[in-house]
Amino acid sequence: MDKYPESFERLIEVLKSFPGVGRRSAERMAFAMLKWTPEKTAEAGRTISELHSNVASCADCGNLCEKGNLCAICSDTHRDRSVLCVVEDIPQIHSIEKCRTYRGLYHVLHGKIIPLDGKDIGGETLDKLRRRIGSGEVKELVMALSMDVEGQATAIYLSDLFKDSGVRITRIARGLPAGSDISFADPATISAAMSGRTQM
Ligand SMILES: [Zn+2]
Repeated sequence: MDKYPESFERLIEVLKSFPGVGRRSAERMAFAMLKWTPEKTAEAGRTISELHSNVASCADCGNLCEKGNLCAICSDTHRDRSVLCVVEDIPQIHSIEKCRTYRGLYHVLHGKIIPLDGKDIGGETLDKLRRRIGSGEVKELVMALSMDVEGQATAIYLSDLFKDSGVRITRIARGLPAGSDISFADPATISAAMSGRTQM
């Protein structure tokens, strides 16, 4: 038998689907939501239901954007369009942006190209990267992938793939914790790793 009314249990189930949220946290969140005004819950509901119609993936880099537009970084005319920083996922863009030292553009892989479990996520994101490099605008490709085996294998795979493209291929300096994804590093460490990047 459910502990709470069915509608409340449904809310708990929804909240439990967030990463790292267990039953107890979901219950606490649900009780906090009960204290919201009807206007606030309606607004939250609208924001969630319109998520997929409003938020999309940037056609150039794969970052988040408002549907129908490029992301804020790709549409910023002050960015250096000759440098592309390759990251595994969107949160890493935000970690690098917090340092305020990198002024180029990004390319999101949405995973690793060569995960150890044998799945290859290459496909569309890799085709997009090929097209961007083929446009002739890109002069440097910076690998900012995680320091684990898969991240480094992906960096080597990509550098191999584009070695005859005429583009300089670099990777962020070591010094980030081994095995970690760069979004766990502090801004100063990321900044140092970015400015100390080395040729692959
Ligand atoms: Zn973009």
